[in-house]
Amino acid sequence: MREKLMLLEDLQELDLKADGTQARIQDALSEVEALDSRLQEARDAIEAKREELAALEEERKTLEENLATEHANITRSEANLKGITTQKEYQAVNKEIASARKLIGELEEQILQKTTRGEELKGELDAMESDTATLEENIVTQKAEVQARIDAEETTAAADVKIRDELVKSIPAGMLKRYEKLREVRRGVAVVEARDGGCLGCNMHIPPQMYNNLFRGEELITCPHCQRILVLHLEGQE
Ligand SMILES: [Zn+2]
Repeated sequence: MREKLMLLEDLQELDLKADGTQARIQDALSEVEALDSRLQEARDAIEAKREELAALEEERKTLEENLATEHANITRSEANLKGITTQKEYQAVNKEIASARKLIGELEEQILQKTTRGEELKGELDAMESDTATLEENIVTQKAEVQARIDAEETTAAADVKIRDELVKSIPAGMLKRYEKLREVRRGVAVVEARDGGCLGCNMHIPPQMYNNLFRGEELITCPHCQRILVLHLEGQE
């Protein structure tokens, strides 16, 4: 039994190592995800800026169409002036022309504002595109580094799986099953050392008779407090 328990302890060590490897792989995958979402955010911001610029251009286009309409109105009114015979009509058409000119002034002012804002947006967009291109390069490099780490961890994990497969062949099925169940409910730690009359898993005292039985190493003994499988390291045998 003692030999089997020692194998179980080796298995525990291997499984904890594998847990650590898997945790690091998960962390690395989260890092990749975070890098991807950072880049996506930058791209989304560029897209939003492009849409803002497109909407502005659209508004400017409409203003320019209105401007062209007002110019056409003036041209038409000026042509109309030639055929006018009464003072009253003359005044009315001149009033139309004056109001069209006023409108043209306002439209030109608005168009100028849109043009200025458009230049600003284009400048911002250029800066964002350039920053994002740099970010993308950095992220490609960082992702390659993280991927290299993941690959190394995967290689270790695959090698450890092979070692584990060999190891479990020497462990009785019932014992293995018990171990696996305990690992599930005891956060990965199913086998613990008993030392100085206590369980190192939960630091509780083990009844003396039970502790004596551990020395004999004839049976599988679990801690009465945390139910973990107890192993005793005899002197000169670690
Ligand atoms: Zn315990």
